[in-house]
Amino acid sequence: MKDTPFWAEGVRFECTSCGHCCRHEPGYVFLSQNDLTRLAQGMGMKEKDFISKHCRRVDLGVAVRLSLLEKSNNDCIFWDEGCTVYEHRPLQCRTYPFWPAIMDSQEAWDEESKECPGMNHGALRSKKEIHDALSAREGDVLLSPDR
Ligand code: SF4
Ligand code: SF4
Repeated sequence: MKDTPFWAEGVRFECTSCGHCCRHEPGYVFLSQNDLTRLAQGMGMKEKDFISKHCRRVDLGVAVRLSLLEKSNNDCIFWDEGCTVYEHRPLQCRTYPFWPAIMDSQEAWDEESKECPGMNHGALRSKKEIHDALSAREGDVLLSPDR
């Protein structure tokens, strides 16, 4: 990250609830222990049962992670005309689009904004809000199922 990030004066973002980031294309929603605990508790399930029913193990080569399952059409397992676990959704979902790879450069932000109609629209999100989202992700270690 550069000393003065392109988002130093904030950026505009307001989700339009279009659902694009939750569906249609294959992807990963990686879980931390906090995510797993919140989701399992929110659904009244034991964590091991939640993993068996709703998660998959993903071998990234450099690490193994736990991700939510997708339906056969590539929608997130929890998409059904909206996020059915919205209150308990993982931090990855909560912090979009303020992810390190997207906030790293104006170019990365511009590229991502082609996929998300909420970016560059709506409320001005402050530098602190963005910084807090980045820090939250950094501090929430992802589960590594082999450990
Ligand atoms: S793609 Fe953007 S606007 Fe659409 S649901 Fe996701 S965050 Fe919201
Ligand atoms: S958990 Fe909810 S917000 Fe996250 S990808 Fe799935 S449907 Fe979207």
